[in-house]
Amino acid sequence: MSAAQTFTQELKEFAIRHGASLVGIGNIERFDNAPPSVHPRSILPVTRSIIALGLPQSRGALMAIEEGTYWQAYNVDNYWYLNDVEAPRLLRQIVMYLEERGHTAISVHNPFSHAMGQKLRLEHATGPDGIVSLRMIGVACGLGELGHHKLLLTPEYGPRQRVFAVFTDAQLDPTPLFRGKICDGCKLCVRECEACAIGSERSVALQVEDVTYRHATLDTKACGFVHPGNAPEYSPFWTGNEKPGERPGYHQGMLNRFHTLGICAGRGCLRSCLDHLEKTKRIKTEFNTPLISKPRWKVTPVKMKYQEDSGLNTAGESAADGKS
Ligand code: SF4
Ligand code: SF4
Repeated sequence: MSAAQTFTQELKEFAIRHGASLVGIGNIERFDNAPPSVHPRSILPVTRSIIALGLPQSRGALMAIEEGTYWQAYNVDNYWYLNDVEAPRLLRQIVMYLEERGHTAISVHNPFSHAMGQKLRLEHATGPDGIVSLRMIGVACGLGELGHHKLLLTPEYGPRQRVFAVFTDAQLDPTPLFRGKICDGCKLCVRECEACAIGSERSVALQVEDVTYRHATLDTKACGFVHPGNAPEYSPFWTGNEKPGERPGYHQGMLNRFHTLGICAGRGCLRSCLDHLEKTKRIKTEFNTPLISKPRWKVTPVKMKYQEDSGLNTAGESAADGKS
């Protein structure tokens, strides 16, 4: 075993001891086809290796939303805790492990703000902060493939993880790229997305070394409206008493306390896909009870009181519109 292989193995074991469930390594050459604006060197220009870390989401939290009984576990455990507590702690441990051994390293969190400012050097692709695609980093570090829906699918958890990264100037031994097929093209993700945000064809191709990964287009604006339950037909937390421009109290409470708001919780892209991959045994993890075992719920939208009082319907049109 070479010195780089031994060091990489020790680093992976360290990451797992400190809470990572998935660890993959990519070398910088795997990003040769990446646009400069989303290249790891847009964040740490001396990057030679990329470490992708996967933390699974709680399946029970997804099941409770599938049942329609409890949203807090998803928002707190699967979102806020993973992004704001568990990942920063793990990433810092790995950065310190590398820096105590003479390598420079940086944590790449999720979520993060990007390209907010002006370029500080001519050679920079964007202004700070640099941005990368964490799902693509997971792929380039050998954790899995991109599903039709553009989420990372791993053989262990399917779409049920969040990915974080450390960039370093250390020369590490890359993990082989994933060359299997997890997504079977069932398109349940397309059919079950209430935002109709996922395209029907896997029309986007990304090349890493000799492997082509494909995914469908994703309408992030449409998803961004439905995912946080921005209208009464997408969230059970609207009471009808909200004033124009006001959010439901539950939504605001989640945002105030945890800075997250997921109401859809991946009805199509995450929950349908996970259930399909588990039932067809295309991923390794097995459970006693299926994730989806009943007809799926739909919200019956409440009538907004202010619209009723003003004679407007939910589309904001007067009841008299169109009538002679
Ligand atoms: S739901 Fe089906 S088509 Fe969509 S990503 Fe999952 S396996 Fe692929
Ligand atoms: S999070 Fe919800 S709205 Fe967004 S793509 Fe997934 S299923 Fe569609």
